[in-house]
Amino acid sequence: MLSAMNLLDRQSARRHDEAYLNQLLAAPQTQLIALVGAKPVIRSNAERTAATLATIDPVVCPGGPPKLDDVMFLGVDTTTGTALFARSFTAEQAQALDPQGATLAPAVDLRSLAMQGVLAPQELGTAATAAALQAWHDSARFCGRCAAPTVSRNGGWSRHCGTCNVSHFPRTDPVVIMLVTAGDKCVLARQSAFPENMVSAIAGFLEPGETIETAVIRETEEEIGIRVHDVTYLASQPWPFPHTLMIGCRAETTHHPLKVDPSELESAQWVSRQDTRRMLANTHPDGLWVPGPHAIARTLISLFAQEKI
Ligand SMILES: [Zn+2]
Repeated sequence: MLSAMNLLDRQSARRHDEAYLNQLLAAPQTQLIALVGAKPVIRSNAERTAATLATIDPVVCPGGPPKLDDVMFLGVDTTTGTALFARSFTAEQAQALDPQGATLAPAVDLRSLAMQGVLAPQELGTAATAAALQAWHDSARFCGRCAAPTVSRNGGWSRHCGTCNVSHFPRTDPVVIMLVTAGDKCVLARQSAFPENMVSAIAGFLEPGETIETAVIRETEEEIGIRVHDVTYLASQPWPFPHTLMIGCRAETTHHPLKVDPSELESAQWVSRQDTRRMLANTHPDGLWVPGPHAIARTLISLFAQEKI
């Protein structure tokens, strides 16, 4: 087991070197992150208030040491030099990894882990990379051009179709998430799928041909009927459900009445800075609250609450 995960060097320039990757895979220090489907296996206490990603020695893999085609190369720990791969197992195989079954949770939903904040940020980032990559492999087994089977290449970072000689690469879907502000107020909204009383910034997919700014302007107008005039990029966050990049922005407007699109949102409202502070502290009189520390929406709302934007 790795006691703590440090920064990973992805070594993207060496992924094409099969001899190097095979050498890493066979090295005694090397560890595998286990997934069931695209869900990471974790070790945790019974209350699941503390957890780490479960890592295993490749030589104890059910069915024997894995071949390069079966694994995804995540990188090399910059502190220890330990190479880290990920591999997907069946639920039965994952059970066999931990005969005692005392501490291993075989398949944990990554969204729950992110929301609960029980994994250290670096581990959550590593789990997110592995889960997003595995979700892509699961949907890219056949060539989108000719429908022939594809094979994994470059340590799991591409798939190749031998029939039409085309390589396919993992996709990332950009989403703009924007805090619409007017002076001392911002817009927070609810989707019907949100947990009860949770409100957040509005968001939408960036379309082909759009800049970040034009996507923010279009989505804001579509969802809440507001024309924004100034868009500022603030931060971004990979969100592996299944392979999204959240692009966090502030969008300024003059105060307008909201016209909510009911096909997108359940409700939206202007909220004062003081009320955003109450929502962040879970002391809002109506019980309204905002997403947790691992969500970029909270970063945007916190910057507004602290008068930094
Ligand atoms: Zn093909």
